[in-house]
Amino acid sequence: MACFVDIHTHGCSSHDHDIVEVVSLDVADIAFHFDEDFLCSVGIHPWSIKSDIDKASLFGIIDEYLDNDCVLAVGEAGLDRCHIDTVAEQKEVFVKEIELSECHAKPLIIHAVRSCYDIIEIRKISGAVMPWIIHGFRGSLRMAEQLLQHDVGISLGIMSLHDDNKASMLLKMIPMDKLFFETDVSTVPIKAVYERASSLLDMDVEFLRDNIYNNFVKCFCR
Ligand SMILES: [Zn+2]
Repeated sequence: MACFVDIHTHGCSSHDHDIVEVVSLDVADIAFHFDEDFLCSVGIHPWSIKSDIDKASLFGIIDEYLDNDCVLAVGEAGLDRCHIDTVAEQKEVFVKEIELSECHAKPLIIHAVRSCYDIIEIRKISGAVMPWIIHGFRGSLRMAEQLLQHDVGISLGIMSLHDDNKASMLLKMIPMDKLFFETDVSTVPIKAVYERASSLLDMDVEFLRDNIYNNFVKCFCR
């Protein structure tokens, strides 16, 4: 049966049988939260990158966890230009996480703040073929268009759907096979995100759910 997929959440908030969640775990504390009964992603959040972290050992831990079937993706990983002091290190870590994603054939869930163009450049240079998904997309329509041209998927949360006009244009622009939904840190339930999107698209919520579920299976369950 098709479920409502939440591809990026920081809490395992729902126990509904018709919801599938991918819990985002940071490598630093995955040992405390990992549970084979739940789906998750593992990565190094750009905010936790400091010059004194032992990167090699963190990459080793990600590598090991990626061998588990319940670890569906690398992430969240990426670049945050609001944390300008560490941008060079963030890039170095991100490139390594791309390698891990390719090596394990698992998608990459990306945190991008003022860095979508960097992400596109890195995608081109890296020659990566695994699906990449920008989570919590809040950028412009133009930016969305550029990401899609480079085969990067887009995940929307309730905050991405705030503005009626922009959100409906954005939803219509993203092909159904590049679209995902998430709750991230929000307490708004995932079904409310789907309901909001389906009303903006003037589409049946079940139809939207089924399509996104198919994307999820294609992308994450290889
Ligand atoms: Zn997040």
